[in-house]
Amino acid sequence: MGRTQPTSMDQCIYFTNRNTEDGKIKAWAFKLKCEECGDGLMGKPIDPKTKKPKIRATEYECNKCGHTEEKKEHEAKVTVEAVYTCPACGKEGEGESPYKRKKWKGVDAYVIVCEHCGEKIGITKKMKAPKK
Ligand SMILES: [Zn+2]
Ligand SMILES: [Zn+2]
Repeated sequence: MGRTQPTSMDQCIYFTNRNTEDGKIKAWAFKLKCEECGDGLMGKPIDPKTKKPKIRATEYECNKCGHTEEKKEHEAKVTVEAVYTCPACGKEGEGESPYKRKKWKGVDAYVIVCEHCGEKIGITKKMKAPKK
């Protein structure tokens, strides 16, 4: 596979890895480089008390220079990438989706289109990130 996959959750604003009965999918969205300093990565601000990202924050913050960007504006530039085994054709493939959920079979999901058969593969909210 030519696609660069994350090696750590710290590189991502989104990561999921799921096995289903008839396929599997791993999807992630890399943090973007800060446009201000060109060095740091944009992520949710870290809560100084818990040292964990503030998931509900409405902005993203550079971990180096502190530059912030509004959530919507920032997420419009983010891409979800995925590698999968297609539940419809059984082949392995790769795909991308904007970092914005669409309606898929009645639920909100990132939708990856199978590069072999055109099947729409949904990544729903319920998917859990693997435990570390
Ligand atoms: Zn920066
Ligand atoms: Zn397919």
